[in-house]
Amino acid sequence: TYGWIEVVIGPMYSGKSEELIRRVRRAKIAKMKVQVFKPSVDDRYSKEDVVSHCGEKIEAMPVKDSSVIMGKVDNDTKVVAIDEVQFFDINILDVIEELAEKGLRVICAGLDMDFKGEPFGPIPRLLAIAEKVDKISAICVVCGNPATRTQRLINGKPARYSDPVVLVGAQESYEARCRNCHIIVK
Ligand code: ADP
Ligand code: ZN
Repeated sequence: TYGWIEVVIGPMYSGKSEELIRRVRRAKIAKMKVQVFKPSVDDRYSKEDVVSHCGEKIEAMPVKDSSVIMGKVDNDTKVVAIDEVQFFDINILDVIEELAEKGLRVICAGLDMDFKGEPFGPIPRLLAIAEKVDKISAICVVCGNPATRTQRLINGKPARYSDPVVLVGAQESYEARCRNCHIIVK
């Protein structure tokens, strides 16, 4: 059997989780054993599931870092799906390659850029080694064009380049925007 790596990337709200869920469901229809992982830092809606913004969900195993995954993959598993892959350390690439070389199909979904528009963590290298990449877009909430970027807002205003990742006491939110409407305050 041959394994391979496929990646779904795009900004927030582009439907990455929906697409990962769709692929996982279809693999299950083909009677393949599937295991879904996600980093435990992301507990957006649920600690145990991958949940899309429109409410679809599938069971997932939260893991604290990439080194845990290999030991959790069962011998009869044919497909491994990893959501929010941008939050993993660089060693996730070795794990993904090892799984593909063992003959598994590996489905990865994640943000290609952070809110500053910079490539996110392990994603650039992952895109280079993958067999298949799908870059999907959302709808820009400002102008309606395809959105490729994620706008970070602090108390309703565009975040600054220097704003810390965690802001205590501030109202933080994210929007899908196109290149033209995406604002980075230096
Ligand atoms: P991602 O995993 O990429 O963040 P999800 O799969 O969780 O995306 O959510 C995709 C869903 O988000 C869409 O099907 C739609 O219902 C909803 N949505 C909310 N805002 C937007 C937007 N600006 N553009 C497109 N979809 C949006
Ligand atoms: Zn726009």
